[in-house]
Amino acid sequence: MAINLVARCSECYGTVDLDIEAEDEEITCPVCGHSVPNFDADDFDRISFHQERTHKATIFSGAAFGGSIVLFLIFLKFSEAAEPNQGIVMVAGLLTVAAVIASMVFGWKASAEDIVAEI
Ligand SMILES: [Zn+2]
Repeated sequence: MAINLVARCSECYGTVDLDIEAEDEEITCPVCGHSVPNFDADDFDRISFHQERTHKATIFSGAAFGGSIVLFLIFLKFSEAAEPNQGIVMVAGLLTVAAVIASMVFGWKASAEDIVAEI
């Protein structure tokens, strides 16, 4: 699996987006051609694992946010009834708040760390 990094070149000081494969021998700056050896296998796997975890957190955050919208609509529907079922209204309201909090936590995890390389 390729990793995608923002890298800063130590030669031209350009900031570039790089897609790096595990098989690549070198990491090359697309602006000036400066190159450095690729990460060793352990570092490559660690970065790949970190990016996969971040990607999953992004998906979970979006899913939790979508769930919170659905739960909020359920909350509104049951609370607008002529004789609202207090139990359903309360559970839907609490689950809405829980889903929003879960979305925020996963969103924070997805954005908390960003790897920037120097080539
Ligand atoms: Zn460069």
